[in-house]
Amino acid sequence: MDFDTLDVGYDIPARPGQRIDEVLTPALIVDLDRFERNLRRMRDFIARTGLRLRAHAKTHKSADIARMQIAEGGACGICCQKVSEAEAFVRAGITDILVSNEVWGEARVDRLARLAAKARIVVCVDDIRSVRDLSHAARRHGSTLEILVEIDCGAHRCGVAPGAAAADLARAVEQAPALRFEGLQAYQGSLQHIENPVERRQSADAAARATRTTVEMLAAAGIECRTIGGAGTGSFVLDASLGVINELQCGSFIFMDAHYDRVEEEDGGRLGGMENSLFVLAGVMSAAIAGRPVCDAGLKALAVDSGLPRVERPGVSYLQASDEHGVLDDPDRMLDLGDQVRLVPGHCDPTCNLYDSYVAVRGERVEAIWPVTARGKLF
Ligand code: PLP
Ligand code: MN
Repeated sequence: MDFDTLDVGYDIPARPGQRIDEVLTPALIVDLDRFERNLRRMRDFIARTGLRLRAHAKTHKSADIARMQIAEGGACGICCQKVSEAEAFVRAGITDILVSNEVWGEARVDRLARLAAKARIVVCVDDIRSVRDLSHAARRHGSTLEILVEIDCGAHRCGVAPGAAAADLARAVEQAPALRFEGLQAYQGSLQHIENPVERRQSADAAARATRTTVEMLAAAGIECRTIGGAGTGSFVLDASLGVINELQCGSFIFMDAHYDRVEEEDGGRLGGMENSLFVLAGVMSAAIAGRPVCDAGLKALAVDSGLPRVERPGVSYLQASDEHGVLDDPDRMLDLGDQVRLVPGHCDPTCNLYDSYVAVRGERVEAIWPVTARGKLF
């Protein structure tokens, strides 16, 4: 980033070298010491288990973070959810991407096939019509698209039924020109967020059984799954112990959020030991009502779909969000006008998509500004 041309307050919330109390709020803060520990924890986990990590970049949408995950965090590549997201990462130099999602429609399919001429692109399918369209487009561009057949392993979001339907689709992929069958997408999204550990375990067991049956059926038909992809932050420890998935797609682990903290707490701390490294730094903009300070981070600074943020100040809680305001409860009247508070967002992924840049801090100093490279890349 060329800081000489950027104006603090217009283009960026702070400049490297500034103190944290000089950062313009609300700002998206990454605590580098905690972030680096999460990076190493996951790297050590995959080294121990022998699994691959394909870190999900939907969480952070940052080319800087994706590069660190590959160079230092043990990731073999990244996942994206959307074609335009994948394009942004290829432009930033990332060369191994799974679009862990279905891609449909002529324009999007064409763009994905074009991208596959520049980088390794893997994509999910759950429909024979997509096999045909992706194959045509890849032939047109002289590229090869690698394919994961997505199975519905319990979330009822996307994916064909495990077993025979998946095997039929895999056979069609094998026969389609310019496509290469790579394996299965077996991501069970709803299980990630089940707070009850017993129910989460049952759900993971069921998903693993359905996936294993499908892998065995394919093997019997002479079709090998090199990649069996899935798992998120809420299930990767369980999934590793179940031994079916060989490529983890965890995203949120790098930051964590207030919702995943609750899942981990219910599970007695067995989610992988990740720390909160992402915060929204908010400033107190009004102290007019005693005990009810108002901060400058509301709905446009925080995703609240998984609950309100946690305030990193004992005795203070976040009561209510409106567009640009957050009402705090501060019974001991610790906060005053201009004070800063760190908030742990309820849900990290959609919170990050609200900002143009991350402010990476070490202790009380700003060390770097990282653009949210794929912000708003939604198609
Ligand atoms: N894989 C897929 C297909 C996803 O949709 C998601 C998130 O929703 C993830 C992986 C990552 O999950 P998490 O952020 O919980 O680690
Ligand atoms: Mn999420």
